[in-house]
Amino acid sequence: MKLLVVEDEPTLRAQLGAALREAGYAVDEAADGRDAWHLGSTEAYDAVVLDLGLPLLDGLSVLQRWRAAGRAMPVLILTARDGWHEKVAGIDAGADDYLSKPFHTPELLARLRALIRRAQGLASPRLRCGPLELDTRSGEVTVAGRPVSLTAHEYRLLAYLMHRPGQVVSRGELTEHLYAQDFDRDSNTIEVFVARLRRKLPAELIETVRGRGYRLQARA
Ligand code: CA
Repeated sequence: MKLLVVEDEPTLRAQLGAALREAGYAVDEAADGRDAWHLGSTEAYDAVVLDLGLPLLDGLSVLQRWRAAGRAMPVLILTARDGWHEKVAGIDAGADDYLSKPFHTPELLARLRALIRRAQGLASPRLRCGPLELDTRSGEVTVAGRPVSLTAHEYRLLAYLMHRPGQVVSRGELTEHLYAQDFDRDSNTIEVFVARLRRKLPAELIETVRGRGYRLQARA
């Protein structure tokens, strides 16, 4: 899962970036509206945290431009305390949720988890596929109730697949959603991570669909 954090206040941006990376996401950061608009128009994000008061291009305009261009990723806006009119304008511009500053990081994380799962039509924060279970709140992965220890990249890849059970996901799509923008990407490393996951999980859960990608599926 990859997120974009748009916030012009450097300390808050760094704190948010660190908290989201700690929670297992790949994170890109933007400090102004123009950079945000560019990143959100060219990179594949699973969700965006968008401050509204931004230099160069305000957050509301950024959001309107994304939506006008058909960019449909979930967007959570950060608004001023008591800025109810900002919330109305933001939601009408295509925001999916909002938080008023100051906010507690656990609330932001919970709202982002909900946005990401709802974008895939999933209701529960606990994702299941056969004997495999992933709790998006704690990051805990179990097989038949037994904990499985995964690296950050393995977890990110598995979480992406578990949000899309039964769907074929290409290596290119995985590459786009697993790495931050400045990361040196190599789609061959996806094969390496899949091979490692297959050693840690029941091997048949991640199926290779020839020429198309991977599919997470529990055999009935
Ligand atoms: Ca601001």
